[in-house]
Amino acid sequence: MGFDTKLIHAGAYADEFGSATVPIYQTSTFAFKNAQHGADLFAGRENGYIYTRIGNPTIDALEKNIAELENGFRAVATSSGMGAVNAVYFGLLKSGDHIISTNSVYGPSRAVMESYYANFGVESTYIDTSDIEKVKAALKPNTKVLYLETPSNPTMLLTDIAACAEIIKDKGIIMVVDNTFSSPFLQKPLDLGADVVLHSVTKFINGHADIVGGIVVSKTPELDAKIRKSMIMLGTNMDPHQAFMVLRGVKTLSIRQERAEENARKVAEYLENHPKIEWIKYPGLISHPQYELAKKQMSGFGSMISFGLKGGFDAGKALMDNVHLAILAVSLGGVETLIQHPASMTHAGLSKEARLAAEITDGLVRFSVGIENVKDIIDDLEQALNKV
Ligand SMILES: *Cc1c(COP(=O)(O)O)cnc(C)c1O
Repeated sequence: MGFDTKLIHAGAYADEFGSATVPIYQTSTFAFKNAQHGADLFAGRENGYIYTRIGNPTIDALEKNIAELENGFRAVATSSGMGAVNAVYFGLLKSGDHIISTNSVYGPSRAVMESYYANFGVESTYIDTSDIEKVKAALKPNTKVLYLETPSNPTMLLTDIAACAEIIKDKGIIMVVDNTFSSPFLQKPLDLGADVVLHSVTKFINGHADIVGGIVVSKTPELDAKIRKSMIMLGTNMDPHQAFMVLRGVKTLSIRQERAEENARKVAEYLENHPKIEWIKYPGLISHPQYELAKKQMSGFGSMISFGLKGGFDAGKALMDNVHLAILAVSLGGVETLIQHPASMTHAGLSKEARLAAEITDGLVRFSVGIENVKDIIDDLEQALNKV
């Protein structure tokens, strides 16, 4: 099946009524036919459902769908993207292990490692993984996981997944990629040598800003079993209603992302030539330092843009207060255009030094381009920039 067909039909579920969509099995538990049936299910001698934290037909359908999109063996759906991140950390790491990770990963993915897993003896190193030499230099005998996020947020830096896979080959290191920013529509890390892919499905995969959720796709049955067990023990399972919503959202992933990228290219070109803009990072612009890697590793450039305003912090706040169409909100990857100013919002808790070390300058604006009429998006930016 082609990717667009998989979006709609992968993980197909058939019920006795011929329902065209997957029904919501809004139940916490499932009756056993008899004592032997219950015993067989628990022993794994028979396939079936026991309890929704462990598995549920609606959630199952979503897991099969996303596993096929990522060319993985199987997937484990979770309550949120952070539920997925924790299921991976908890399932793959133990005391004495070392993890190497992209320094500009999603904030809580780093914070939970440094402030909680560290308490249980997990060692971590955060580096600029877009520099392959730094990845080589960070390897230790106890390195167990290489955790990448590409493109990373909000700096829009890319990490070469295939080159990283080459470095860790035969070292027993598990490569995990947070693929939230691209979705399988643009990038398939398992095909490039990763072992595990995770998503906040809250973003592109669901795409409608109406639920929070996560998913982890593994390449092998062994990794899938470890992560499923970890999810079950942590209790970060998805809910059947959430799974239904994501199954509905994912069907239009291709057409949403195609339109969003078409819009993003025009917005990026507009911003690149605007006198109040100091710099812009969009992988689809030839000016992006990793334009060639983006072309090689991704099948498109996405719809996330970061740009810097010459006027700094005050200009950033002024832009936020003057946009009308773009919604002033965190999150990304939805049908609606979202705008955010990290220095006064998501990263306001950091000192200015820490922010600058992470390349989050005062004038940095993050823009998630939606699928509205692109002229309206640009007109909105134009009138707001005029007031900055
Ligand atoms: C949003 C996000 C997460 C966390 O997902 P939630 O669904 O908010 O828990 C993890 N990684 C990335 C890259 C994200 O953008």
